[in-house]
Amino acid sequence: MRLILLGAPGAGKGTQAEVVCDKLGIPAISTGNILRAAIKNETEMGLKAKSFIDSGALVPDSVIISIIKERLAASDCQKGFILDGVPRTVAQAEALEEMGVNIDHVIDIEVSDDTIMKRLSGRRVCASCGASYHTLYKPSQQPDVCDRCGGTLIVRKDDEPATILERLRTYHELTEPLVEFYRQRGKLIVVEGQEEVSDTSALLLSKLEEASK
Ligand code: AMP
Repeated sequence: MRLILLGAPGAGKGTQAEVVCDKLGIPAISTGNILRAAIKNETEMGLKAKSFIDSGALVPDSVIISIIKERLAASDCQKGFILDGVPRTVAQAEALEEMGVNIDHVIDIEVSDDTIMKRLSGRRVCASCGASYHTLYKPSQQPDVCDRCGGTLIVRKDDEPATILERLRTYHELTEPLVEFYRQRGKLIVVEGQEEVSDTSALLLSKLEEASK
């Protein structure tokens, strides 16, 4: 099974990718995670990508296409995969087609901009150990102090309100056209994001099963 997860930043793609990955036994591939690891390891690609990510812009297509080419060639992808956060532009989707990658289904998780704003602006991470929190959904016991190590909780640069707005604008302009792109190819499954993560997962898995019959 070769799947793509579409949706705005904060729609819950990463979480749902893990659910599908466990259920179907296929790897979840997140270009966001690959880029963050490259930044942490201070590789040449990481250094190139950092300023784009910090400002809420997309990393250039050429960088993403070479990441995905290399990743999909790995042996664990031969039986299928789920792409989380890629493609994000029509050029990336066309590159996948040119590579001969045959996608079975594209799952679009729909969440309103208001909800996205609430979800992303409440995210906090510990500056020392990296543990993650949310002011509404997963608060620390003491405000701005990590329960695990006592470190200071901070807002990730790309979760600052101005950057979230920029990420949403970028999503509507460059990524949302992919919904139509895949609808025209008869591959689109729309899932309305629910309040509870487990409700979204149940809906997604049942729609996927229905579409695979
Ligand atoms: P994510 O964790 O998927 O939200 O990705 C974090 C950031 O990495 C995004 O805001 C982009 O700057 C960059 N990024 C991740 N995937 C892509 C992609 N397919 N195309 C362009 N930029 C990407």
